[in-house]
Amino acid sequence: MLPEIGPEPAGDGTPFSDLTTMRVGGPAERVLVAHATDELVAYAQGLWDTDEPWMLLGGGSNTVMNDRGFPGTVLLVRTTGIAPVADDALPEGRIRLRVQAGHDWDHLVATCVENGWSGVEALSGIPGLAGAAPVQNIGAYGQELSDVLHSIEFLDRERGHARRIPADALGLAYRDSAIKQGLEGVVLSIDIVLTVGEPTRGARHAAPEVLSEPIAYAQLAGALGVELGDRVPIRELRESVLRLRASKGMVLDAEDRDSWSCGSFFTNPIVTERFARDLPESAPRFPQPVPEPVDAVTTFAELEAGLPVRVPEPEPERMVKLSAAWLIDQAGVRRGFRLPGSGAAISSKHTLAITNQGGATADEVAELARFVVQRVQQEFGVILAPEPNLYGLEL
Ligand SMILES: Cc1cc2nc3c(=O)[nH]c(=O)nc-3n(C[C@H](O)[C@H](O)[C@H](O)COP(=O)(O)OP(=O)(O)OC[C@H]3O[C@@H](n4cnc5c(N)ncnc54)[C@H](O)[C@@H]3O)c2cc1C
Repeated sequence: MLPEIGPEPAGDGTPFSDLTTMRVGGPAERVLVAHATDELVAYAQGLWDTDEPWMLLGGGSNTVMNDRGFPGTVLLVRTTGIAPVADDALPEGRIRLRVQAGHDWDHLVATCVENGWSGVEALSGIPGLAGAAPVQNIGAYGQELSDVLHSIEFLDRERGHARRIPADALGLAYRDSAIKQGLEGVVLSIDIVLTVGEPTRGARHAAPEVLSEPIAYAQLAGALGVELGDRVPIRELRESVLRLRASKGMVLDAEDRDSWSCGSFFTNPIVTERFARDLPESAPRFPQPVPEPVDAVTTFAELEAGLPVRVPEPEPERMVKLSAAWLIDQAGVRRGFRLPGSGAAISSKHTLAITNQGGATADEVAELARFVVQRVQQEFGVILAPEPNLYGLEL
């Protein structure tokens, strides 16, 4: 039996166009809203008992639902709260915070900046809720959640109970995680570890003016008039990131149709260096870290334990990350582009965002995305992968 739902703003039949930032998609057959962790656990376990279709939704900023809607229960995560966690293992000058899954991500960042805790300031302005942040290991302007994530509390469907999973067991990678790859369950809370900043001399604010982590993104360093690797007061960094993001339609603004989107619609493709050699010289390429070579010597202990003899592995290929925005633009799909009669368009501020310019359907969004994928594949032989979670939509 599922617990009863109290009066909520979103009820059964609410269309996904009201629940997601892309503002497309048909109705959710049934909607449950969890405001407390025990409620979230009870709802999820109740749903798993029924074995009916279910899905989780946070802020809906990385979700595109098809026009027919979802024939099952949508569980909205609305648990909030940030609290420090005592941790003797932490070195001095660090703080560990526990953030409930339904807490607004940018409110968390603002709180950290206000308190002089650095580590997430470059992630200012990313829409959505904390529980979804590990799902695609959110990242921007040279920071990623994985830089600060300590662990998550995870209600595991297969095991039937909640467990703490350390960050390094989550398969966090560029816009990817074990959860995105199919580990089924609910992120109940996330723990992050931040640096308690040293106040800078001559602080202008009443609260300590502490320095950011070293800036790792050239455009951001340029906007701040500093060098890569420099540190600036975290308030300044947050403000600069928010300005940069707004200029690209990357902060939510009901008045700005370019922000009626999921942010970047495609991930930056990672290809072998060999493949990238054939691309035009002007194509941006970002070398990826080379994986550690696996030791090819089998130890006596391993042999005694009955493990197979290790075979030397071929040297791993060097990989480079390409710019999806560059590929799309150079394939001739420019900012503001839209297919005839469609309400979906490439953002007028950023080539990587597919937007709803008003009245778009999910089919129109998918049609434009397919067009982009085809153009880039024809031009460069690269197949772009969507970043948002698509429900009942094929590219
Ligand atoms: C304008 C704009 C700019 C953006 N910029 C960035 C950016 O710079 N960097 C970036 O990384 N992303 C960016 N995004 C994408 C998005 O904001 C992030 O992916 C965000 O973390 C999604 O959070 P959400 O709560 O809205 O997720 P939702 O869309 O609600 O959910 C996303 C996925 O996570 C699952 N999920 C949600 N909550 C939980 C939970 N508690 N436990 C387990 N699974 C859960 C959902 O089922 C779904 O599959 C942007 C989006 C927009 C609209």
